[in-house]
Amino acid sequence: MPLAFKPLDFKRYSGWLRGPGMALFCYRALPFSILPRSHMLASSLAFTHTVTERFLRYVVIDTQSDAASPTCPSTEKQKDLGRLLAAELQAMGIGDAHLDEHGYVYATIPANTDKKVPVICFCSHMDTSPDCTGKDVKPQIVRNYRGGDIALPGDATQVIRSADHPALADQIGNDIITTDGTTLLGADNKAGLAEIMDAAQFLLQNPQIKHGTIKILFTPDEEIGRGVDKVDLKKLGADFAYTMDGETAGNIEDETFSADGATITIEGVSTHPGFAKGKMEHAIKIASAIVDRLPKDTCSPETTEGKEGFLHPIAIKGELEKATLSFIVRDFNDDGLTEKEALLESIVKDVMKGFPRSTWRMEVKQQYRNMKQVIDRHPEIVDYAIEAIRRAGLTPVRSSIRGGTDGSRLSFMGLPCPNIFAGEHAFHSRLEWVSVQDMEKAAQTIVHLAMIWAERA
Ligand SMILES: [Zn+2]
Repeated sequence: MPLAFKPLDFKRYSGWLRGPGMALFCYRALPFSILPRSHMLASSLAFTHTVTERFLRYVVIDTQSDAASPTCPSTEKQKDLGRLLAAELQAMGIGDAHLDEHGYVYATIPANTDKKVPVICFCSHMDTSPDCTGKDVKPQIVRNYRGGDIALPGDATQVIRSADHPALADQIGNDIITTDGTTLLGADNKAGLAEIMDAAQFLLQNPQIKHGTIKILFTPDEEIGRGVDKVDLKKLGADFAYTMDGETAGNIEDETFSADGATITIEGVSTHPGFAKGKMEHAIKIASAIVDRLPKDTCSPETTEGKEGFLHPIAIKGELEKATLSFIVRDFNDDGLTEKEALLESIVKDVMKGFPRSTWRMEVKQQYRNMKQVIDRHPEIVDYAIEAIRRAGLTPVRSSIRGGTDGSRLSFMGLPCPNIFAGEHAFHSRLEWVSVQDMEKAAQTIVHLAMIWAERA
């Protein structure tokens, strides 16, 4: 049964939200305080969060990226949000905050301790997925969620069903932000942006909390796999980083897939179809035979989960004479990739036995590697994050991502970078949602993490 959410004066609300720099909000997060723990500072941290008002301000700015565009950022509109973020950071007193020509925002919160603390960076992406429109986002807040389905008011077919979204069961009593059902929400990854901004302001307003140099990095084009193409790591000058782009509250992900791309090119034998008997070897048919021989019950995205990898055809192009098959290969370790590539090669060889005058070649290209290989060399990165999540009052869960992140590429570029929860759910869809309370917990986790790095230095 659809939940009767508190009706929000929608037009008025989105009108209020429109336009960067506006100061009035109908929503105000309640001050939140957590009790001190014995191993913490004697004083408790009294959080007054700004994360929700920031989030509502950022999601109404369309920042959809576009894989077909050759520019960086892929869409100029991403800079609209970048400019706002840089201005807000400046207004907090961060003098070096700026948006660069490629659409990246950099900022530094200076250290306030004499201790030698590693430089930590918090990173989120500004773009939203090309899979779903992000234009004219109209957020609504379902306050004090009581369970059940959430109907979205702008499209009767869009219902966030509790049966399909089991994570909703953990949100009873929380305030859930959704769209009106006509766009995505953009919690992926504007929740992360808002959390980092909230934590930055808190640190700046509470100089009694000691921390080392904190770097902030906001990137464009993550959703099209180009989020770190133009990042200047030298300018950033961080030792370790955290992306705030994970799903469920409490989660930290230090492991991604390792990924290769494999291309099979087949050269068949072409003749006039009227005179082809015993001569023609059809490249399209050869390619189809290869696809048909792939494992049916294992080794595909639709038959695997958890730590299982797969071999997945993503494109087939061909005519009589020549056909090309493109695959992505995924596994959590390199041996698993090698096995799957060997399997593909053996299938191709076997199929080609039936086409003795045709030729083939297979090319494997590395795409990205499991960041765990890098992060494991610095176990304190994850250990401190787990402690920070615990201090924020959550149960830490260490998990892996069946995909890649900006963090996996950053890790191999020399900046080890696990992924911390931002609270985003059902991303890349019109049913996307995030809760106010999870965003607040993520902001608190950032603050605790900054403190822990200084404590342990
Ligand atoms: Zn994301």
